[in-house]
Amino acid sequence: MIKVYNSLTRKKEIFKPLKNKQVAFYVCGPTVYGPGHIGHARTYIAFDIIRRYLEYRGYKVKYVMNITDVHDDIIKQADKEGGDIFSLSEKYTGQFLRDQKKLGIKPANVYPKVTENIKEIIDFIKKLEQEGFAYEQNGSVYFDISKYKDYGKLSGIKIKKAKTGTRVEADKYERDEAVDFALWKKAKKGEPYWESPWRQGRPGWHIECSVMIKKFLGEQIDIHAGAQDLMFPHHENEIAQTEALAKKKPFVKYWLHGGLLMTGGQKMSKSLGNFITIEQVLEKWEPRVIRMFVASSRYQSKLDWSEKNLLQAKKNLERMEEFVNKLKTQNAKRKTITQKSRISKLLKDSKTKFEEAMEDNFNTPEALAVLFEMIKAINPLFDKNEIDEKQAKEILEFLKDIDKIFNFIFPRKRETVPQKIKDLAKMREKCRTSKQWREADKIREQIERLGFELKDAPTGPEIKKK
Ligand SMILES: [Zn+2]
Repeated sequence: MIKVYNSLTRKKEIFKPLKNKQVAFYVCGPTVYGPGHIGHARTYIAFDIIRRYLEYRGYKVKYVMNITDVHDDIIKQADKEGGDIFSLSEKYTGQFLRDQKKLGIKPANVYPKVTENIKEIIDFIKKLEQEGFAYEQNGSVYFDISKYKDYGKLSGIKIKKAKTGTRVEADKYERDEAVDFALWKKAKKGEPYWESPWRQGRPGWHIECSVMIKKFLGEQIDIHAGAQDLMFPHHENEIAQTEALAKKKPFVKYWLHGGLLMTGGQKMSKSLGNFITIEQVLEKWEPRVIRMFVASSRYQSKLDWSEKNLLQAKKNLERMEEFVNKLKTQNAKRKTITQKSRISKLLKDSKTKFEEAMEDNFNTPEALAVLFEMIKAINPLFDKNEIDEKQAKEILEFLKDIDKIFNFIFPRKRETVPQKIKDLAKMREKCRTSKQWREADKIREQIERLGFELKDAPTGPEIKKK
């Protein structure tokens, strides 16, 4: 029985999805105006482990993560760089997806982008306006928080009477204060815009998640996850927008909030400028070490980014690797092994305890402790040759099973694609960019005849053995 801490009720609750064994899981994605930092990596790895655990337990998870490709910050950055927002956001969307892959994060089922869902966003705002929850002012549209009586139920923020009717234009608030927020923003001179029933403009930030969830997951979902600092105003506003119109409530059954990554006692963030990009981190540390580091604390806890903690994660991983290597090379075939029943019991108990830890609101540090206890108990048996090949295999199978969740115990298999195929793929890419479609198709057929499959992913072409 899985128990999760629900930020909305502030209680640990038994996890029971709305539909049987299906889980609708939404995670607030990145705003793509620069390279992602390790704080983002922590959040996405932590939720990746939760998703993978649910799948390990037999749930069918539909995982959706939005990409914010229009936002105040993107416009500012594009201005600074002297380019347009579209090429800027495309560049960093590609980098985001590449980073996710390198970090061993399972891809979402959908990555909806704001710019591809403008119509749906406008329709949603129109509905809010019709129902009296939104009003227009000077060509922009705002959500009237005084009309939604449950405003503040997630974060605990109170609406001050004196503040009613105060509006905020920016996507990020300067102060933690409940105020009317922008659903649609009238375009300022030189800003990108879309046509709308109001003035030409663009969506505010918060509305996109309400719209994406409705479109890609439905009216009610099981899990909504995001970093702690999104609880207010972002998630509070999401609830207000969706529940103002919803027939079924609550809109989210379980709210999961990820703890922040700290550095030198401060939250690591783009605005504070104290961040390290994922790219920089990967130059020094293996992705597996980073995943181990993330799993060493529970997803909700603050986690300190420090050399010392990373080294510890590396050491722990090496200990695991050493153990795996011993298991792989163990080939004793003694007929009578006195420890046989003891090992079976140990393995069974470890599995139970591991699952108990994970089911207790995804207590990954405890789950890891169970594994290290097991390693400690089994290690001396190798020296005495008290473990046979079959048992070693059983333990290996258990670890492989667990690695479907952690994805760091075993090195990732690299598929080797022959140089010839890579060259062909490159040639095809060239044909495609110069719009020589027929040539491109011919090369694809050739690649397929050679036993490989080519997929055009957002990060570029991917080649796989058929
Ligand atoms: Zn969101």
